[in-house]
Amino acid sequence: MGIVKGMWLEEQERGYSSNEEKTVCSNCFDEYGLKQFIEEHQTHSSCSYCETDNEVAACELDSLIEHILTSIHLEWGHPADEGLRWEGGWQFSTVYDIWDLLDNIGLDNIHGDTYEDICNSIHNQEWCERNPGSLSTDRTLFFGWQNFCAFIKNKARYVFFKAKNPDYDEDQHDEMDPVNILDALETIINKIGLVEEISVDTQIHRVRVVNPDDNLETAQELGSPPNEFATMANRMSPAGISMFYGAFDVETAIKETYEPGEIEKKAVSGIFEPIKPLSVIDLSEKLYIPSLFDEHERDNRDYMRFLFDFVSDFTRPIERSDRAHIDYVPTQVVTEYIRYLFKSEKENQIDGIMYPSSKNDGKKAIVIFANSDQCVESAESSKEGAILQLVSVETYALK
Ligand SMILES: [Zn+2]
Repeated sequence: MGIVKGMWLEEQERGYSSNEEKTVCSNCFDEYGLKQFIEEHQTHSSCSYCETDNEVAACELDSLIEHILTSIHLEWGHPADEGLRWEGGWQFSTVYDIWDLLDNIGLDNIHGDTYEDICNSIHNQEWCERNPGSLSTDRTLFFGWQNFCAFIKNKARYVFFKAKNPDYDEDQHDEMDPVNILDALETIINKIGLVEEISVDTQIHRVRVVNPDDNLETAQELGSPPNEFATMANRMSPAGISMFYGAFDVETAIKETYEPGEIEKKAVSGIFEPIKPLSVIDLSEKLYIPSLFDEHERDNRDYMRFLFDFVSDFTRPIERSDRAHIDYVPTQVVTEYIRYLFKSEKENQIDGIMYPSSKNDGKKAIVIFANSDQCVESAESSKEGAILQLVSVETYALK
């Protein structure tokens, strides 16, 4: 009796019934987190479910179920543990049985017998989201960003670091002081590793659209405008602060600059190369939300969800209108923070930001913190403070 009772207790604590001797292979799953787990914890080379004579990466089904349970518990719990009230049914939050839960979190494509064994082994049949009364971390961050934008657009633009924000309720446990979004971005960008280096042989196009008779040839003409001519508010730079806007291919550089409809114009592209390697923040990579079952990356799930929404907000097309200079304020503030205050893990200063082009899908655009004096001819590349050198010039007719 003692042994039986001991095993029963152990099983209760474990949360699942054992499937002794059964093994499962990585081919049984499409979900990359589970495949990865089996490949990284391989103990067997045959599978109880696949009819194959070939050797495969497999592990005990029990180890996999243990991994599934540990993973689910990071974001899901039993309704009673999460404070839901029972009034003839669980109140306040959706409750799933294990079958529906696994379906809902991306394990809907599992082979029938494997799926049945996994679901039948797991004891807890009722699951709800953890902390149902609080915003998730990614929502807290995104609302923080939205409130920050509203604050600096419509309430306090220049002294916002110290100004009291009347819309921020510090007693709300899941609200953040919107001003802290800038520091939070620094932490997230470093944690996810979005600081990249651009090497000195990278070609960056900056395009100017001019009349067919105009000839532009020099770094002065094709680099960033002198401060006194930087009169337009841009996505990353306010009027008066000159920056270098470019792209890595000429088509994107033209689309970012040229408003179709201007007739009889030509595009002159100055092709520049960095004089020293540049540290930039890369917001242009396709972001993905790591699987809950991915042991290495899953801690970043909330950060990735936030960044996903943040980047699409940050790079959203803004119509050239009377309002544009207001709508650009938040991106300009983030850019200035990145330029002057951001601390990367290597503690080097950031030279620019890469972002997805809003005019040429799938391509990248870049802003580099270089003014007119910092864009030079290649013969002047040793000039103090120079950042970009002009290596060639190309001209394109615009239709
Ligand atoms: Zn298999």
